[in-house]
Amino acid sequence: MRTPVIAGNWKMYKTIAEALDYVEGFRAKEADGVETVLCGPYLTLPALVEAAKDSAVGIGAQNMHWEKEGAFTGEISPAMLQEAGIPYVIVGHSERRALFGETDEAVRNKVKAALTHDLIPILCVGETIEEREAERTQEVVRTQVVEAVRGLSSTKMTRVIVAYEPVWAIGTGRSATADDAQNVIAFVRRTLADQFDQQVANQVRILYGGSVKPANIDALLEKDDIDGALVGGASLDPESFSQLVDAAV
Ligand code: PEP
Repeated sequence: MRTPVIAGNWKMYKTIAEALDYVEGFRAKEADGVETVLCGPYLTLPALVEAAKDSAVGIGAQNMHWEKEGAFTGEISPAMLQEAGIPYVIVGHSERRALFGETDEAVRNKVKAALTHDLIPILCVGETIEEREAERTQEVVRTQVVEAVRGLSSTKMTRVIVAYEPVWAIGTGRSATADDAQNVIAFVRRTLADQFDQQVANQVRILYGGSVKPANIDALLEKDDIDGALVGGASLDPESFSQLVDAAV
């Protein structure tokens, strides 16, 4: 049995005061049987860790460098996240790949470094609309997954959370259908079975992300291979996000 995960990605939204306001009245703080994660901007993270400390909510970063320390102006290291008590980190989000030039190699370094520092990486993969229309979805997603997890031990692989996020569905209001999401996510699981074994593949949580909202979450969660959601826009409102968490309980 895989515990479902509902993770919110706030992107570059919310000040410290807004983040604290959100957690204050956040119903999903007590949700049982689901891993609830909030990934805020860096500056909000220590305040969120403190505010969520006696609750069921885990806090995550949206990115990090892979080195422990060094001359990398503007970067945050896995050791810094670990020290601050932040258990999750999003890695390879399509906005980082497209806007900040994050390569498959950088994503692999980040996944590895996160696991070395006992952080749980939420590894994002997904195709663009051009790739989908050229029927290259499986090829693209397979390459992203294989390149990101290459060299991991089976034990470490089971700690990774994968999020399949078709780029054309992110922030567009146009979600993949539950059938489409299930097909690609089942393909990701088969890819993991090829790279590791079926037992490992069966343990990895694989989420769907891309315009998830209260109106479409139930259909997605009904699918055998979909273990939860990575949510952008709908995670910004605590009531909408609580409804998504409720759906996964
Ligand atoms: C995301 O940013 O990872 C995301 C899925 O965004 P949205 O839910 O807004 O499509």
